Amino acid sequence: MAVIGFIGLGHMGAPMAKNLVKAGHELIVFDIVQEVVGELVSLGASAVESVQAFAGKKLDYMITMLPSSPHVESVYIAQDKLLEKLCSDTLVIDCSTISPEMARKVASAGKKYGIEVIDAPVSGGTVGAENATLTFMVGGSEQAFKSAESILLAMGKNVFFAGENGAGQVCKICNNMLLAITMIGTAEAIQLGVANGLDPTVLSDIMQKSSGKNWVLDCYNPYPGAMENVPASAGYQGGFMVDLMAKDLGLALESALATKSSVPLGGLARNLYALHAAAGHGQLDFSSIQKL
Ligand code: NAD
Repeated sequence: MAVIGFIGLGHMGAPMAKNLVKAGHELIVFDIVQEVVGELVSLGASAVESVQAFAGKKLDYMITMLPSSPHVESVYIAQDKLLEKLCSDTLVIDCSTISPEMARKVASAGKKYGIEVIDAPVSGGTVGAENATLTFMVGGSEQAFKSAESILLAMGKNVFFAGENGAGQVCKICNNMLLAITMIGTAEAIQLGVANGLDPTVLSDIMQKSSGKNWVLDCYNPYPGAMENVPASAGYQGGFMVDLMAKDLGLALESALATKSSVPLGGLARNLYALHAAAGHGQLDFSSIQKL
């Protein structure tokens, strides 16, 4: 069994860390929010008081699940300088969704200290994190991928090698741009049906068996009450925040600019999510775009 450091115990990180404990690994955890740390400790993990306290610990893996690029930069390079402090045989696995450029920057900073870094962003949401059914998209060396595979499989069902450092993030950005577009399209179709007198559940069931079928209709219906156990039926609490989706769409637009790609629907999706966040809904689940 492995000794694993884990930083970032939020909506995704906490259930992922719990699954590693359940699989029998020794976990050392940290988050700036004390409450979530206590929950992991009650399950058998140990905790440290700061990122610096990981210094010199004999870790096989260091996993991070942080909100965005500046947080990852701050922990590994800028403020906490974790890369300088880890033992050289620790493999760093960053599961956060960040820019491919930042993933490459952290990986090349790691090389200076003999530390191998891979990007391993995930898809599957909080339900996938809880049920250990996440999909991992990995960028880095093939050797590091092989070393990480069994650990990632304790938190997920599918683990894909995408290519060099940053490639996992490129996959994730493309996937989330498609997810945002699908979510908005599905919300728009249901709203049109409801405005014309249809029951949202009946309409959703029919579209689910018709050519409009998609993952949102199958697993994440945005209309309140149309599906059980989804954020839409719980006041849009939990799940994947609007602010994080807006961030991911921003990453998609940056990548499009850098490669002179045209992403008109991605641009529209980014604007709609920015508008929705500006209206005060940034902390709600991204399916709350139905309200807009
Ligand atoms: P979250 O905001 O719930 O969790 C982030 C955690 O990081 C928080 O507990 C926060 O306290 C902690 N944190 C922030 N800065 C820190 C620091 N300097 N040191 C230690 N801890 C720090 O976010 P989340 O929903 O868990 O998402 C995490 C990442 O996963 C994001 O990049 C997101 O885009 C991605 N993601 C989220 C989902 C989802 O459904 N929520 C799905 C796929 C991918």
